[in-house]
Amino acid sequence: MFIKDIFSQKKPVLSFEVFPPKQDSGLEAVLTAVDKMSVLPIDYMSVTYGAGGSNSKNTAQVASHMKNKLSIPSLAHLTCVANTKQTICERLTEYKNLGIENILALRGDKPGNYSGELFPGYRYANELVSAIKDFGGFCIGGACYPERHPDSATQEEDINNLKRKIDAGVDFLVTQMFFDNEEFYKFRDKCIQKGISVPINAGIMPLTNAGQIQRMAVLSGGASMPAKFMRMFAKYQDNPEALKQAGIAYAVDQITDLLSNDTDGVHLYTMNKPETAEKIVTAVNYLF
Ligand code: FAD
Repeated sequence: MFIKDIFSQKKPVLSFEVFPPKQDSGLEAVLTAVDKMSVLPIDYMSVTYGAGGSNSKNTAQVASHMKNKLSIPSLAHLTCVANTKQTICERLTEYKNLGIENILALRGDKPGNYSGELFPGYRYANELVSAIKDFGGFCIGGACYPERHPDSATQEEDINNLKRKIDAGVDFLVTQMFFDNEEFYKFRDKCIQKGISVPINAGIMPLTNAGQIQRMAVLSGGASMPAKFMRMFAKYQDNPEALKQAGIAYAVDQITDLLSNDTDGVHLYTMNKPETAEKIVTAVNYLF
């Protein structure tokens, strides 16, 4: 099923994101986590794509498992980084042959140890979107950044580029994680002013351990951490179980507020943790 049709039939939408294993030997464990999460009332699941393509086969395998074994609409990610036009065409053929109908078209970032040509095929996500559109037969998602992509000097510049991506054929958006809902609401208003009318799925990452929290501001491209969140972290950082519970409660609080403000959907970055996903969904189940 096309994800754009899910949004037009049901709002708010609930989706989960997982990442594939780096090594083939880890595939079973990821599929087991996906199976556990599949019993929750979700509308679709997405699988990330390792920039550089090292685990691209596993992205396709996991997305196919969701769609063909679990009957859950799947969203396979795909990046421009390190892919030639020919490789992109091969990936699209592979996705199509596996019955995958939805692709999140991304630019990607330079992998740590990669020394080859970074963009041998397409330079920006909007170019990849056009290529997927030309290939035909897919519903296409794109990424967006409530607090600006770090490569853009201003949010206005970033939203102008986002509009270009929408005009190329993006059917829905998924946001970078954010921890301050007010930033999301301001961004959503600016998108509407710019004429961006596709559904925007709000990315929520439950932060449940200290290392994750310390890394996050960097990984998320500088998402701001509200004072409320930092107080929670300061209070419980030395108590892992309490911090985990507080992190889950923070995510639940964020989701409740988003749904009270007519958000199109919530995309949970599960980090492949079924227990955390279950606790959150159980707490907000009736709001969807
Ligand atoms: P783009 O839309 O190309 O934008 C990148 C930057 O270039 C922005 O600053 C934008 O304003 C600017 N720009 C865009 N188009 C143009 C243009 N035509 N001319 C000039 N400037 C332009 N990475 C992975 O490797 N694998 C994944 O699976 C993955 N999944 C993700 C899922 C989500 C929901 C999000 C939010 C991010 C994900 N990423 C993933 C990370 C993503 O690849 C990086 O954030 C990357 O830096 C930007 O990708 P993009 O598709 O948003 O790029």
